[in-house]
Amino acid sequence: MDKIKIFGLKLYSYHGCFDFEKEKGQEFLVDITIEKDLDKAESSDDLNNTVNYGEVSNLAAKIFKEEHFNLIEAAAENLANKLLISFASIKNIEVTVHKPNAPIEIPFEDVTVSVSRGWHEAYIAVGSNLSDAEIGTPEDLIENGKKMLAEIPGIVLEKASSLIVTKPYGVTDQPDFINGMFLIKTIFNPYELLDELHEIEAANKRERTLRWGPRTLDLDIIYYDDCIIDSAELTIPHIDMCNRDFVLKPLNEINPYKRHPINLMRPGEMLDRLKQ
Ligand code: ADP
Ligand code: MG
Repeated sequence: MDKIKIFGLKLYSYHGCFDFEKEKGQEFLVDITIEKDLDKAESSDDLNNTVNYGEVSNLAAKIFKEEHFNLIEAAAENLANKLLISFASIKNIEVTVHKPNAPIEIPFEDVTVSVSRGWHEAYIAVGSNLSDAEIGTPEDLIENGKKMLAEIPGIVLEKASSLIVTKPYGVTDQPDFINGMFLIKTIFNPYELLDELHEIEAANKRERTLRWGPRTLDLDIIYYDDCIIDSAELTIPHIDMCNRDFVLKPLNEINPYKRHPINLMRPGEMLDRLKQ
């Protein structure tokens, strides 16, 4: 990955825990390292194919001065997230905040905090088999979920599969399901992403009653980059995806080459195995 680095942006702001820091403010220095594929910029020599460091610096100054935080950790994270959201072609960004006038009694040179944030790729399975009086049919609920997902700052909807109708799985005495898959790009970590999905489910009248039971909207994380997570809250890749053709078919439609990070199989290969 190519890099663009901006060093020592001098920004006066009001971050800090103490009252005098909040009232008087002080000078901070900010370094920004942008990771981006610059191949196109190099071959075309065109400003439109790169990230304009002037624009990044101006926006960074605005963000850093506008909102005030107790901790430079929070100020750095806020800046990294907002720059990523504004410049979606940046893959990763590292923000270092220097606070050379921090309230430290012993003479010191500098104190810094660095945070690194980037865009990640996630596959989200969507399903619904209940209508809602206000929102509509399962298809309407899925469309509404998709819209809400795409509107979240920090999530970009890259692809959506077509929808398929499937017989219920597990608990069979319930209406047919409508299923599909979204490919998104996100700056959230897997746990933050799960929280965002739960919020969308709740806004679409999801009630958690029966496992595998009827639902207005279900959003599951299938893959998150090639991460492997096994915790009480979250299993990624999704624990049962290999046994669900209604997950594998839409996945195969949007990326037939995507390999499962543990069994290394493509969706088509997992589908073939299911038929055996
Ligand atoms: P299911 O999708 O299995 O029918 P729920 O949607 O009610 O069931 O999810 C129950 C819990 O499963 C969630 O609260 C979440 O903590 C957990 N979970 C574990 N792994 C995942 C994942 N990959 N995607 C979504 N939820 C997950
Ligand atoms: Mg779920």
